[in-house]
Order: sequence, then C-alpha cells, then structure tokens
Amino acid sequence: MEPQRTCKLFGAVRAVLGIKDALPLIHGPLGCSYHIRYLLSVRSNKPVKILTTGMNQTDVVFGAEDKLENAIFRVDKEYSPNLIVVLTSCASSIIGEDIGRVIKKIRNNIKPEIININAGGFEGTQIDGYEESLCALIDLMYKSEFKKDAVNLVSQFRGGPDLGNLKDDFGKLKIDINCVLTSNSTLEMIKNAGQASLNVSMCEASGILPCKVMQDKLDIPFLNEIAPIGVSSSSSFFRKICDFFNVKYKLKDDEVNARSKIEKYSEYLKGKKVAIVAGSTRAIALTDFVSELGMKPLLVSLDFEGRNTINTLEEIIKKNGINPVILKEPEYYDIYKYIKELMPDLILGGLGEIGISREMNIPLFDVMHAQEITMGFRGAVELIKNIKKILADQ
Ligand code: SF4
Repeated sequence: MEPQRTCKLFGAVRAVLGIKDALPLIHGPLGCSYHIRYLLSVRSNKPVKILTTGMNQTDVVFGAEDKLENAIFRVDKEYSPNLIVVLTSCASSIIGEDIGRVIKKIRNNIKPEIININAGGFEGTQIDGYEESLCALIDLMYKSEFKKDAVNLVSQFRGGPDLGNLKDDFGKLKIDINCVLTSNSTLEMIKNAGQASLNVSMCEASGILPCKVMQDKLDIPFLNEIAPIGVSSSSSFFRKICDFFNVKYKLKDDEVNARSKIEKYSEYLKGKKVAIVAGSTRAIALTDFVSELGMKPLLVSLDFEGRNTINTLEEIIKKNGINPVILKEPEYYDIYKYIKELMPDLILGGLGEIGISREMNIPLFDVMHAQEITMGFRGAVELIKNIKKILADQ
C-alpha cells in the first residue's frame, strides 16, 4: 500500500536526463512529467527538462499519434537536442500507441537522432526503466578498438561533486573515464562507450544487466564491486580496477590520510546507533563503513534489491559482527514503525525520511540526493565530518 519504489517511467527519465544533449519526451498526461520533474529538481537543486505531449481525455480514447508527431517536431525546432527519447507512459502503453511507426515516419525529417522506450508505469519499477533505457542506449554504441586503460562507469546516478571527486581519483591513477552511463555524458560519448576496455557497475540493482549486455555485444568485461563509500570499500574498489589494468595503485597516501583523519572522530562516533534507508548499493557500503567506525547499524532498509544484495550484506554483517533489522523493499510504514521502535541516534537516508526525522526528532543526513561528496577517500572524510556535525548540533 505504501511502496518505497516508483514506476518504470521514473527510471527511464533518470537515464535520459544523465545525457547532456538528450531530452525525454513523455507521451502521456501532464502529471507524469510534472511530478517527476518536481521531485528531481527538488532533489538536485537545479532545473530539469522533461517534456510531455500532455495527452487529454480524447487522446486516451482515440489515440494521439498526430499529437506526438507534432510534439517531436516542436522539440527539434525549439530545443535542438542531439537525441530525443520518446517514452510511453501508462496511458499511451495501455492504448497501444504505435510510437515506432510515428518515429519511422518522421525520422528523416528531423535533425536529432530519436529512439523510443516502453516506459508505462505499470510495466515495472524504476530499476526496470533504468536498465531498459541503458540497453536501448547500448544499441547506439559501436564496437571499436579499445583505448588503453579506459573505463566506463555503468549506472552511475550521481553527478555533481561526487562524480567530480571520483574523476579526480581516476585521474591520479591515470585511468581514463571513457563514458559515465548516464551522468554528464553526451550522445557522442555513449556511441563511443565501446572504446573502454572495462565496465564497472556502479549500481548493485541496475548496473549488472547493462554490463552483461555490453560484454556480449562489445566484448567489454566488467567488475561489480561494493561502491567506493568509506575507506575500506574505496580501497578495494580502486585496487581491483588497478589490478585489472595492471597499473600502480597511486592512492595509498590518500588512503592513509583518510584513515588518520577519520580516526579522530571514532571515539565520538563509537556506539552511536544508526538507521540506514537507501538503495542497495549505498546501503551495503554505508553499513560496512559505519560498522568499521564502531557505530551500530540497528536498521538497514533496502529500497530495492539487486542480484547479489543479500549475499553481500550478509557477508558484511558477519564480518562486522552486527545484527541489524533488514527490511527488503519495504513499505514506508515499515520504515516508520521500525525507526520509532529502535530510536536510533541518526538516520542515514534521503529526502523521503525528512518527515520521520522531524516527527521523531532524530537527525537525518541525506546520503542519497544531496550535493555532498560521499565517494572515494575524500568522500569518506566528508561523510564522517558531516555525521559528526549533525550529531553534535542535535
Ligand atoms: S505510474 Fe503511470 S501514470 Fe503514474 S507517473 Fe508512472 S507512467 Fe505516469
């Protein structure tokens, strides 16, 4: 009744928005674009462009392929993107609008490239939408000569300072980030993603399938490591990638520095109780990180589960000798109920937990959507500084 997950269209829109010169055009009623745009612009603190055909009552009875055709011409003329991605919504999927026929008819009369993705909300979750969109983008990639020491980051949602910091770390290792699927990438970068000699899945839930498809189509092997959040996970993440390329691990000083800076906070943080509410990738890495610091994760709530999530989480729980309540793809009420019962000192979650935080007077640190750096060694230090500050301000 109160799922923490959302619809396939949401995931598809997120994938398209990560491409700087692409635009999503939703063939659907007003609400689909408005609510997704509203949420994503609040979360990212920046303007977000999501276009819609604005289907009305007549359109959902008699079809609106003409309206879609006109909208595509308008997007080309008024916005001039390099790629238009037409996404169906529940309404256009249910009435079976023939998007492929419309695209075929006008493809040669517009400048941008154009593809379509079935993204009716009832067809799956945001993870399905994201995975399917990446697979549609893989169809645009060429098989080509591999560049030396070049990597694609696959299913990397966070752009901004977090991605910038990660790029700096790869720069120190002299490993080239060829393409980030999809964050701050361009259509050209996506087409050339086949030049990378390694893919790294950055999302436990939505990264592995696209990596497998690229392995089959483009012969690119892939790694699926715990996200580089926290010192140990960052160390293991970068070392595995260095091993693959047979390059020297040049982040040793950063690692030692981060450990010594974090050490100063450990006495204060030791024994503090934490509830972690996140997607599988972040939840796993954060559980490991806070446990290493002597904090006590009482609750680990996984918004969605990836293919290896539970096994990996169980290994981390065993390694750290902890015993948190684990909620798998929970209802919002379950999260509310357990946090109220367990009364942690801190919630590591997202904007969705603001209401719980305020009502129960438990501080919240937004590890999901904020602009803070959370990945790599610098991210580990920033995370701990922020956690300490939030707890101390309480
Ligand atoms: S569930 Fe359907 S109607 Fe609701 S936002 Fe998603 S696509 Fe639109």
